[in-house]
Amino acid sequence: MSSVRDLLRFIDASPSPYHAAETVAAHLTGGGFRVLDERDTWSLGPGDRCLVVRGGTLIAFAVPAAGVSGFRMVGAHTDSPNLRIKPRPDTGRAGYRQLGVEVYGGALRNSWLDRDLGLSGRVTVRNGGSPETRLFRVDRPLLRIPQLAIHLDRTVNDSLTLNPQQHLVPVWGLGAVDEGGFARFLAKELGVSDDAVLAWDVMVHDLTPSTVLGADAALVSAPRLDNLVSCWAATTALIDAINHPDPRADAVPVICLFDHEEIGSESATGAASTILPTVVERIVAACGGDREAYHRALAASICVSADGAHATHPNYSERHEPDHHIVMNAGPVIKINSNVRYATDAISSARFKLACEDAGVPWQEFVARTDMACGSTIGPVTAARLGIQIVDVGVAQLAMHSARELCGSTDPILFATALTSFLRGIP
Ligand code: ZN
Repeated sequence: MSSVRDLLRFIDASPSPYHAAETVAAHLTGGGFRVLDERDTWSLGPGDRCLVVRGGTLIAFAVPAAGVSGFRMVGAHTDSPNLRIKPRPDTGRAGYRQLGVEVYGGALRNSWLDRDLGLSGRVTVRNGGSPETRLFRVDRPLLRIPQLAIHLDRTVNDSLTLNPQQHLVPVWGLGAVDEGGFARFLAKELGVSDDAVLAWDVMVHDLTPSTVLGADAALVSAPRLDNLVSCWAATTALIDAINHPDPRADAVPVICLFDHEEIGSESATGAASTILPTVVERIVAACGGDREAYHRALAASICVSADGAHATHPNYSERHEPDHHIVMNAGPVIKINSNVRYATDAISSARFKLACEDAGVPWQEFVARTDMACGSTIGPVTAARLGIQIVDVGVAQLAMHSARELCGSTDPILFATALTSFLRGIP
């Protein structure tokens, strides 16, 4: 996993947060990682490589030979804005069969129009008397949200308004409304009886494969770059850091890939949940440390909050801070906001810059225009939960939250290289 082709494969293998966690878990277990069950008693020692999966969230770490004296973490998120299937989705009008959807996160709604869409997520089915949850994915073209013809709205190119309840209902067939049809479709795809389907977390995904783009192959066109680029870079960096350990290192390298960032991180698996503090405390305990050792380790910890950054848009350059233009393929973007919408401060920023220097990777600095609101990410949430140093960093991209996003083709590798130095314990 060290080339842009690996990144494209990773994205296409991960249409939902559950698949992203599964893709990372499969890659890490292939590299000697052991899956820990949160319900078990953990016992850990030097050299142990482990991971924990809770829904669409994954945390992985490796205990260094020198033991646990702190943590070096890279946080990212597995979810992306999209459309999700309602619990009673079968609907339709005017001779069409349609599926009711909800908008998840801050999606650019127009970007979902006129695309061939598949379905993915997880489905819980009856297994005897108990529920069994299965990953679910169909890559055949199943759904489409057709745009209204221009002849029926001559003003559409001046102002497109899409009501999410009314205008985003995908078509998936013809005929009268088929009550229960979606559940029967799931049952057939999963090879279970019709009455076995109990519930689902299923969403739509764009079926166009991710690709390198441009006359000089300088760009990547793909869905979910926000934030699967960071998940890929973090995973790549963790493996590289473990395989090339720095003998000076005494911190535990950790990656934490959270679900639910796009809807505010407040869930049982989001960055605002107990999962990261709990796992980190259990690592200390499983290595023989007490609660004092846990708090001492936290005081010696630092986290890179890895998430997409806004490249300066050539057609809207006035929307960007004129003295902080961000260029693609010019290295990771350190994101700064004095009102702490990003958690970066002078200390954490300096430490990331030194890691970049060690890796021979350039870096850039982003601030939003002072007269525009600034986005946020898991950085401030993690800082508030753990009280550790955080630096918000990411790969520059355009069209953030579109069904199809754009980034540089060398930036993901530069980011992974910088994160490797960071996780190895430098500086
Ligand atoms: Zn993001």
